[in-house]
Amino acid sequence: MLEEVAAAPVWVGRMGEGMRVVLLGPPGAGKGTQADRIAARFQLVHLATGDILRANVADGTPLGEVAQAYLDSGELVPDEVVVAMMLERLTQPDCAHGFLLDGFPRSVAQARALDEHLAELGAPLDAAINLEVAEEELLQRLAGRGRADDNARTVRNRLQVFASSTRPLLDYYAGQGVLFSVAAAGTIDEVSERILHAPRDVSVNDAGGGSSWP
Ligand code: AMP
Repeated sequence: MLEEVAAAPVWVGRMGEGMRVVLLGPPGAGKGTQADRIAARFQLVHLATGDILRANVADGTPLGEVAQAYLDSGELVPDEVVVAMMLERLTQPDCAHGFLLDGFPRSVAQARALDEHLAELGAPLDAAINLEVAEEELLQRLAGRGRADDNARTVRNRLQVFASSTRPLLDYYAGQGVLFSVAAAGTIDEVSERILHAPRDVSVNDAGGGSSWP
């Protein structure tokens, strides 16, 4: 373990105290797969908003009833609903030892609410890891996934929602100096390895950056 710490990338610096990490990236970037791996490696609670919402839909809870139409269309579930759900979850004791958020926040309003909550606890985010994928590659990946909300219209909408609501988070976290970006092309192992050595990203200003996002 000590050797790992010595060779650790900068975002792993607080590992001993329990890291607080956010994973960002468009739908189809492989967030879920990589989140599982990071969480297992660093013993973090892995919270995937989409999974929690889908479980609520499946269980027919009041939250699930609200969420269903948004999931089906690819729109974001309203900020206040998702924020309440996630902040409640984050107050549970297991999250005190570090967590990895996969799919939250997805808007600047959600990020602000998360920051305020963590500031109250005196436990700010350690890293926002950004998985970058070109749009053509995403469309191919999403086409092969077969999830209920992966039909063409919903996919298109989810990509637009990412571009308009979620992408601004990259600047938000770059401004805080906690953004780390990696190319998410290649094999699962390659991407995992890249994540562990992700460089700090302080300049995401849409000035090219190899991305084809609008
Ligand atoms: P995902 O499994 O992360 O791709 O999320 C699937 C769907 O759940 C999204 O298309 C949204 O409708 C909803 N969702 C997931 N996370 C959030 C969030 N942080 N804010 C609002 N809606 C969300």
